[in-house]
Amino acid sequence: MKKHNFSAGPCILPEEVLQKAADAVINFNNDNLSLIEISHRSQPFVDVIEKARSLVLKLLKLENKGYKVLFLHGGASTQFLMTAYNLLQNKAAYLNTGTWSTKAIKEAKLFGELIEVASSEDKSFNYIPKGYDIPTDADYFHCTSNNTIYGTQMKDFPEVSIPLVCDMSSDIFSRQLDFSKFDLIYAGAQKNMGPAGTTLVVIKEAILGKVNRAIPSMLNYQIHIDKESMFNTPAVFSIYVSMLTLEWLEDMGGISFIETVNQQKATLLYEEIDRNPLFKGVVAKEDRSYMNATFTLINTKLTDKFDTLWQKANINGLHGHRSVGGYRASMYNALPLYSVQALVDVMKELERNA
Ligand SMILES: *Cc1c(COP(=O)(O)O)cnc(C)c1O
Repeated sequence: MKKHNFSAGPCILPEEVLQKAADAVINFNNDNLSLIEISHRSQPFVDVIEKARSLVLKLLKLENKGYKVLFLHGGASTQFLMTAYNLLQNKAAYLNTGTWSTKAIKEAKLFGELIEVASSEDKSFNYIPKGYDIPTDADYFHCTSNNTIYGTQMKDFPEVSIPLVCDMSSDIFSRQLDFSKFDLIYAGAQKNMGPAGTTLVVIKEAILGKVNRAIPSMLNYQIHIDKESMFNTPAVFSIYVSMLTLEWLEDMGGISFIETVNQQKATLLYEEIDRNPLFKGVVAKEDRSYMNATFTLINTKLTDKFDTLWQKANINGLHGHRSVGGYRASMYNALPLYSVQALVDVMKELERNA
């Protein structure tokens, strides 16, 4: 029986997507060739990447609004430097909400002045700063919508007159937002879209062309736009599986549908964390993530008992990030409600037997 997979990334994908992906690796489109042994420029693959692009725009409601969809290499981590390389002429404003923001800031500093508008580092990143000022003369504002490691999530985004750049690696396609407020969104595929290997970039083309420096081709958004993500060989398998996952999401009812399910899952777990006297949540309640719930045992002497129980219950991937400890339940789109129920049942069982 398939495990209840709470892994933070790479992470759970829908069963039917995995089955279709497995089939395509052997025999794609009944053409007696594998998906991963045909040219990325052949029509069958061009159809795949076009479908993936159009599904991204459709699901995010960004059709005909001047956005381009790219599938790039190098993970979200390469976007930390690529955003700055392409957009930072003088100075940029960043909100620091955790490990990933900190890494983005470090890279951007290589390219110009960096204004950290606010940081939650003073409290181990257990909340989202609010009420900060963003300089209107910055080249752009960068934030991280969901902090995968700490379990906080931005519920509101500041109104800005400068380009808004967002790392949405761990909550893209999970909730309804006005995505047209953002000028550049990036996300590593492996959290909510597909397997590791490709990185989604959704960019408003009009924000480009404003920096003076020469940009190496592989790091130049305009080149990838002009070449339709085929400047070099794209990550064909990862893009194909991402396309399947987006199709699955679309068939189920899109983001508005999955948002409801995601809220049900998160509510079920957070209610148990708050009710059960053995556990406590790690982050400020109003900033809790619907994707990654972080919690700890109040009495760490129960650790072995709890770990044995959840592992026996066929649960995978519940340990917190190595930098934080405790527990983290990642509840991405493909995780079913019954998996969260299985975890809640184990927490109740521990309470009865403690
Ligand atoms: C996982 C993650 C990253 C890093 O992604 P890579 O693809 O491994 O570079 C960056 N930002 C966020 C929010 C993440 O969750």
